[in-house]
Amino acid sequence: MIAEIIAAGSEMLTPFRQDTNSLYLTAELNDLGVSVAFKTIVGDNLAHLIGAARIALDRADIVLFSGGLGPTEDDLTREAAAAALDLRLSRDAEILTGMYKRFAARRMVMPPNNARQADVIDGAIILENKNGSAPGQYLDTTIPGPDGQLHRKIVILLPGPPKELKPMFDEACKPLLAASLPPRHLAKRMLRMALIPESQVDARTAPIYKEYADIETTILAGSAEIQLHFLSAKPSLEEAEARVNELTAKIELEMDDAIFSSHGESLEEVVLLMLGMRHLTLATAESCTGGLLAERLTAIAGSSRYFLGGAVVYSDALKTIFADVPPTTVADFGPVSSETASALAEGIRLRTGASLGISITGIAGPGPGAPGPDADKPVGLVYIGLADGQITQVKELNLMGDRERIRYWASQHALELIRR
Ligand code: ATP
Ligand code: MG
Repeated sequence: MIAEIIAAGSEMLTPFRQDTNSLYLTAELNDLGVSVAFKTIVGDNLAHLIGAARIALDRADIVLFSGGLGPTEDDLTREAAAAALDLRLSRDAEILTGMYKRFAARRMVMPPNNARQADVIDGAIILENKNGSAPGQYLDTTIPGPDGQLHRKIVILLPGPPKELKPMFDEACKPLLAASLPPRHLAKRMLRMALIPESQVDARTAPIYKEYADIETTILAGSAEIQLHFLSAKPSLEEAEARVNELTAKIELEMDDAIFSSHGESLEEVVLLMLGMRHLTLATAESCTGGLLAERLTAIAGSSRYFLGGAVVYSDALKTIFADVPPTTVADFGPVSSETASALAEGIRLRTGASLGISITGIAGPGPGAPGPDADKPVGLVYIGLADGQITQVKELNLMGDRERIRYWASQHALELIRR
């Protein structure tokens, strides 16, 4: 069964408002084993809404409308859905009475237009709105398709305000949908990889996941990471999990240690877990990232067991004061150099007593490096040092992008260097 969501509202065709209801509905539908194949945003125009509704009824089994159930002239979803289905709207006496009572309780006269909220598509079940006045509707019906055959369609009308739509879907609509769908159990997995281009992930994994057409696979590119999401829906949970495990095992084999997390943990969490498993502690000396690496690590609760702390050593003098970098090293090779990165990592390690010292020094831009040895070095040049008391590795990076991106990627590379 595939679904289409139609978000009705001209405001979502402006630069000022986004359709967020469909994100919520998609997550809920996926939970029921239903994938969303189409999403449409339509302005408050009857002809456009009917057109969109007809297209949706043609290509999806479940059509959900959000918005346009209010009392005003531009709330047209009921009329549009009924017209596209070729069904009539009938005014429901019970809803109407409830509305009159609510107005009377506030000693107000109900404007005649409000009565439209009591118009129900023939055959639809009314979904109670505990947080507003417009009820929703749920219709399970069959309509003739272009092939002349009858096709089952589930049509759902929900109010636009998220505070009304969410509880209505959850309490009134989801149980109806669940009861009319074949029983489905879901297994989800997410594999996360850092510092690898999306195209490379796709080129290497697509031949594997394409063999599993029954598993929904999504590639998401995030900040300096790629996520692979898998969703399997099967009559039994064991079956769903076995299938996802089979696919992810093959992908893990292919991508090897590029995958930093198979169960959703962040890179920071994985690094801290790794330090814990190896009984190691860590200290940082950061120049161009200004403490970003320390910030990312300390954002994780419990990090204090493995992360001792660090220094933001932005000036040359502070590199010497807090990490014992010999002034001659900075003077001869420049603050952005393999030599300085190495001395920083070793210095902070010894100063703090940590088992590992890591350093980041680079040119984040947009301006060039400081006068002296760094003057002609390019923006994006970053050195990361990692000292463990026996060997000190230094990684040279040539990062692209603006200042924010270079700083974030530098911190990402540092975490990856520790993890591996
Ligand atoms: P009302 O009775 O409030 O008029 P309605 O069902 O007619 O409800 P709309 O008029 O379409 O709904 O939208 C009401 C408000 O709900 C909008 O101003 C907007 O803030 C919010 N809204 C509508 N659709 C969406 C959507 N798809 N995503 C997020 N918010 C939405
Ligand atoms: Mg409205």
